[in-house]
Amino acid sequence: MTAIYIHIPFCRVHCPYSDYNTYVGMDSVIPNYISALQNEASYYSIKEQDEITSIYIGGGTPSILSPDQLLSIFTSIEKNFNVSHVTEITIEVNPGILNGDLLKSMHQLGINRISIGAQSTNNLELQALNCSYTKSMINKSVIDVMSSGINNINIDLLYGIPHQSNKSWKKTIKDILLLDPTHISLNCLELSKTSQMHSYLSKHNLTLPSDDANAAHYKSASEQLNRSNFKQYAITLWHKDNKLTMSRHNLTYLKNTYHIGLGAGANSWYKSHRYYNINSPYSYIKSLESKIKYSSRQKNGTPASSNVIYVNKSTEMNETMIMGLRLVPSGIDIQEFQQRFNISPIAHYEKTLEKLDKQNLINITKTNITLTNHGELLSNRVFSEFI
Ligand code: SF4
Repeated sequence: MTAIYIHIPFCRVHCPYSDYNTYVGMDSVIPNYISALQNEASYYSIKEQDEITSIYIGGGTPSILSPDQLLSIFTSIEKNFNVSHVTEITIEVNPGILNGDLLKSMHQLGINRISIGAQSTNNLELQALNCSYTKSMINKSVIDVMSSGINNINIDLLYGIPHQSNKSWKKTIKDILLLDPTHISLNCLELSKTSQMHSYLSKHNLTLPSDDANAAHYKSASEQLNRSNFKQYAITLWHKDNKLTMSRHNLTYLKNTYHIGLGAGANSWYKSHRYYNINSPYSYIKSLESKIKYSSRQKNGTPASSNVIYVNKSTEMNETMIMGLRLVPSGIDIQEFQQRFNISPIAHYEKTLEKLDKQNLINITKTNITLTNHGELLSNRVFSEFI
């Protein structure tokens, strides 16, 4: 199970709350950026070795690419990776930058899952986030996606927005359920001190909702989703009806199995190494213009890598615990962990697990280690025990 992530770092506007590695007004470099992505993919010529199970095109705003540009990317992915087992190809889109023809082309290219960054259906909250779209544009985007033949749809929602009340948050969830997506992700607005929105809030003497208010939003949304036909499968992630609507790509991260990230600022986790790419699209393109072939990609990364870190077994085990406990309600599969690392997590983490169990933060059965409801609310405290 290896996933491919492709980062498209270009946006039409820069949202003040966003800390992603994104750039506005750089459309002219997109053709060179695509050539660089193709070059980077060629450094991972692992066609015979790993079966790729999912591809995710994220950003930024990948829907600003034309169908021909998407086709060039897919062609080079097919050339360099074994994609015969790919069952999920997702692209992120923003409401308002979509049209029926583009969606039909995406469907024809094999994209079978769309992730819409809606955030809220309350127009005042969307304005507070400086989003260029409205609730009616979100509705239209979902209808357009469904008519294109792509029926696996994720909607990203945000809580913790200034002035958001629990009533307006519940209304957002209700509006989104009426649109009948297959997957919903709930994210809490977190602002770094350097974000534009952080300075905007300080300037206007506005504050973000308290941690308690955010915990109440998360709890009420969980209850609302669980009462509908959605099931939770990880912290912040819900899917509809059957297992096929869980995001295969997210599961790769949650199981801490390999992913290969292509593009400016992307990172990879592959064969005991983490590779971090250069952030700037200009430097990324330049680095991949060189024709020097690396003799040992695994050791040195690709010409776009700015940092390569070797991950030893003990760190990999810790990271697998931290990621796996995010799976709710399944958690860590004890047998699967034992097969992977040749040691039972119960034996390896005996004292830590005992302590967390006593604090009612985790639950240990014969087959799984899971977060309790209390542990889910205090998950960062649990994860810190494995660092
Ligand atoms: S939130 Fe989305 S559209 Fe806004 S800057 Fe970040 S990536 Fe771009």
